Amino acid sequence: GRAELARRIDALLRTVPDYPEPGVLFRDIMPLLADPDAFAEVVATFATDVPGPVDLVAGMEARGFLLAAPVAIALGAGVVPVRKAGKLPGPVATQSYALEYGSAAVEIQPSTIPDGARVLVIDDVLATGGTAAATVELLETCGATVVGLAFLVELEALGGRAMLPGRFVDSLLTLP
Ligand code: AMP
Repeated sequence: GRAELARRIDALLRTVPDYPEPGVLFRDIMPLLADPDAFAEVVATFATDVPGPVDLVAGMEARGFLLAAPVAIALGAGVVPVRKAGKLPGPVATQSYALEYGSAAVEIQPSTIPDGARVLVIDDVLATGGTAAATVELLETCGATVVGLAFLVELEALGGRAMLPGRFVDSLLTLP
């Protein structure tokens, strides 16, 4: 069940202090991706939990790509990569968002999003929620309907869920 899966994910996460910069407690999902059974269970759970039909799965660069593609196959959906600015050939749609210092931007190719497409958004970690909120805004500006968001790990203390009011947010492991 869910509690057992959460324990399994917790056991396979590697926590790296001060990476990629001082003060960040980095949650490394690579050991989980390298475990065939755990990876398959995570993908199957994301695909089962989704609230309703999905046309496209949007994965955030870069670890979100690794989760979005197998979940899309499991759902019979397509994939939309949500990339950092400047990585996709145009035409692109761009959404900027604030970071602790400065700002960042995410981009998609709107030509890949049919009007009214039902989109599931996937990433490895929900931290402050800035990336996820910008992704939702970007997709909906392009005419999509975001049906929900799914994360392997939610870092509760960073309050990301509050950035996604009224949204279906599925996280397989919540850390305090
Ligand atoms: P945020 O916009 O703050 O929610 O950050 C989310 C993005 O940054 C995701 O794409 C995560 O992969 C990455 N991220 C943020 N904090 C962490 C962390 N502590 N460990 C691993 N990845 C993180």
